[in-house]
Amino acid sequence: MTDSGIISLRNVSKVYPAARSGRAVAAVDNLNLDIATGEIFGIIGYSGAGKSTVARLINALEPASSGEIVVDGRQVTGVSERQLRKLRLDVGMIFQQFNLFNSKTVRNNVAFPLRVAGTNRADAERRVEEMLRFVGLGDKAGAFPEQLSGGQKQRVGIARALASSPRILLADEATSALDPETTYEVLELLQRVNAELGVTIVTITHEMDVIKALATKVAVMEQGCIVEQGDVFDVFSRPRQASSQRFVSTVIRDIPSDKDLELLRRRHPGRLVTVSFREGEASQNEVFVQLANAGINFELIYGGINDIRGRTFGHLTLALEGPAESIDPVLARIAQYSDVKEVTTRG
Ligand code: ADP
Repeated sequence: MTDSGIISLRNVSKVYPAARSGRAVAAVDNLNLDIATGEIFGIIGYSGAGKSTVARLINALEPASSGEIVVDGRQVTGVSERQLRKLRLDVGMIFQQFNLFNSKTVRNNVAFPLRVAGTNRADAERRVEEMLRFVGLGDKAGAFPEQLSGGQKQRVGIARALASSPRILLADEATSALDPETTYEVLELLQRVNAELGVTIVTITHEMDVIKALATKVAVMEQGCIVEQGDVFDVFSRPRQASSQRFVSTVIRDIPSDKDLELLRRRHPGRLVTVSFREGEASQNEVFVQLANAGINFELIYGGINDIRGRTFGHLTLALEGPAESIDPVLARIAQYSDVKEVTTRG
């Protein structure tokens, strides 16, 4: 038993039995995860990594094969269906395809979980109105889902998920069916849900820009396991695992690819180094002053500086000209407080 967060998974596995010809699949494999109250926690991974299974385990839609799950102080493993129903009221959920009832009005969609929970009519009406105002759809209560845009449908989904005042909202690819502008609006709304209503959000996605725009913490999943996790800033500015690096490179393009390097080398015959800059570590100024003081000619040939909620990081690739005996000691000094990668030679 642990009291480390609002959601805690200890050595959790979920094995699906073998289909007639195939082998059993460990969709989640001995996973440990702690999510603190008030966080926006992103789980990213390619299709089949096990993300949705984690979501279904957290809201008790499926039992774990082994391990222990605690959600908002309640044991999820080994409890009765009646207790699980209570737990599910504590966890709202939104989906990629919105999952609204097309034959019900917006008002009745949002009221649905309150009906299920047996909330009295007057309270339910008040709550529905409050939630529709919160998501900016106060004037759409009588509309039907098919009369709404995708972004509006997801707003209804969010209002419905929040109607029973859950402490946790699970968002499963919630913006994957939306265009970029609508995605941005929905992500902004989710940030308000977190900041103004104090709801802990777990967002599952295969899109790293969703993590960048929304999450405070991130876990990278691969084959049922978490291969890397941490603060969004740390994982973006210094991804350690190959799959994290691949996800980060879909959003941050400040490191030259092999193809870019080939072109750069043609134009710059000297030594090329890529230096990383992270807030609180190396400053560009220090690096440039050290190079200049050692009489090394340098030119900035590739790179960028990124911002994650006001914290900056980036990579700059420099072409250096000068004798090895002056360049090497300077690079060694810079390497004490920054990642320096020489990219002159292939590989
Ligand atoms: P993701 O959400 O990251 O795409 P899933 O959690 O949906 O991944 O799936 C993880 C693995 O578990 C996949 O190999 C998938 O085929 C398998 N899986 C998921 N649900 C079931 C199920 N109900 N029965 C059998 N295998 C499943």
